Amino acid sequence: MAKDQFVSQIADIEADFPQWYTDVVIKTKLVDYGPVKGTMVIRPYGYAIWENIQRELDARFKQAGVENAYFPLLIPMSFMTKEAEHVEGFAPEVAVVTHAGGEKLAEPLVVRPTSETIIGHMFGKWIESWRDLPLRQNQWCNVMRWEKTTRPFLRTSEFLWQEGHSVYATGEEAERETLAMLRLYGEFAKSVLCMPVLTGRKTEKEKFAGAVATYGMEAMMHDGKSLQAGTTHYMGQNFAKAFGVQFTDKDGELKFGYTMSYGVSTRLIGALIMTHGDKRGLVLPPPVAPYQVVIVPIAAKKEGVLAACEALREELKGAGLRVMLDDSDNSPGWKFNEWEMKGVPVRIELGPRDIENGKMTVFRRDTCEKSELSLANAGEGVQKLLGEISVSLYEKAKARMEQRVVHADSLQELLDGVNAGRFVCAGWCGERACEDKVKEFAQATARVLSEKNTHATCLCCGAKAKYTVYFARAY
Ligand code: ZN
Repeated sequence: MAKDQFVSQIADIEADFPQWYTDVVIKTKLVDYGPVKGTMVIRPYGYAIWENIQRELDARFKQAGVENAYFPLLIPMSFMTKEAEHVEGFAPEVAVVTHAGGEKLAEPLVVRPTSETIIGHMFGKWIESWRDLPLRQNQWCNVMRWEKTTRPFLRTSEFLWQEGHSVYATGEEAERETLAMLRLYGEFAKSVLCMPVLTGRKTEKEKFAGAVATYGMEAMMHDGKSLQAGTTHYMGQNFAKAFGVQFTDKDGELKFGYTMSYGVSTRLIGALIMTHGDKRGLVLPPPVAPYQVVIVPIAAKKEGVLAACEALREELKGAGLRVMLDDSDNSPGWKFNEWEMKGVPVRIELGPRDIENGKMTVFRRDTCEKSELSLANAGEGVQKLLGEISVSLYEKAKARMEQRVVHADSLQELLDGVNAGRFVCAGWCGERACEDKVKEFAQATARVLSEKNTHATCLCCGAKAKYTVYFARAY
């Protein structure tokens, strides 16, 4: 099959980015649609990425002293109504179980959209004194939020995630943890997903239902739109009061704890696809790629070629790399296209001439450049190359994001900016009416508040600016 024919199976990334995304996730077998509208099947190639994300993040949580646990999927309906803002925020999205075992249930059960309520309830049972604090637990699980319009990884009714929940004796400690987890996510995004992010506080309108403050990390996608890639929430005593999370303090008094939570989901897979992908398909960051290296034998039928490829595979595996040897009957050209579309960071071509010269031809997916590496110390050479690819992916995405931040002093300038796929930095008075106006006028939302106040006036009403905000269209 000619190369052009193959590439044409994926929509043009510049001309039709949404279709490109759909084509890529389906054709590379990351996902398929489930029979119930809005659900997705994560296929092995996609699930392997999730497992790598999980492993990297889980190690960081444990390093930070957080323990894993598992809480039930079903939550009594009455729990959801205990925290007023929380129920209001999630009511439109919850799926409810009304019947089980052939009978109508006395109390309907909610399929968890998030677990603050049930975890608050259990923490309330377990905590007695200040000695039990802080209590810091995380769970890896699925959640369900009924969505009207869905897209694989980005928005599906059921998705996988982790949700961490902590209780502290003081608000300062819980707030500090909220920011520490945001930093942990940012470092993870950089070093594992090779993805630069903007982090900061969310506006009241964009915060989590029931939180005092929400912080988010936002990443810029190929089309200049923003994707919320993770959030951390400081709850103050809202959930502690609703669920009786109390402790006897050192002074003998019974006090409510302060809680916080944080989560990232399979959405991260969508984020890395739309950050790094190109016209040929996926470009996977080496730390999460299911296969970091694919070996393609050239003139595979010639004596010694396959054996040399197998020996190389074992050597690279021994060096701790995830390796695929494609010894299928397809032509080398077909394999090149297939694995390029699937985003494998490094391809090694090994034929009789290479073997004779003690070299291998190496193709890196991010730049599509070929070079030669010595077959001696192959593991070390490839390891080094993967490291360079990770750095290069991050730097490229960072440069793109920085180039695409513009400043606006009026609604029209903001509209021009988001139309051109930019993050727009602008002053804001802090009033909800102005934030709503931005949404209505430009279909853009406040992504995060900037730490620096660089604008004197609100882009909307002209009053004195309280904040500088990054606005963008978002997924
Ligand atoms: Zn204003």
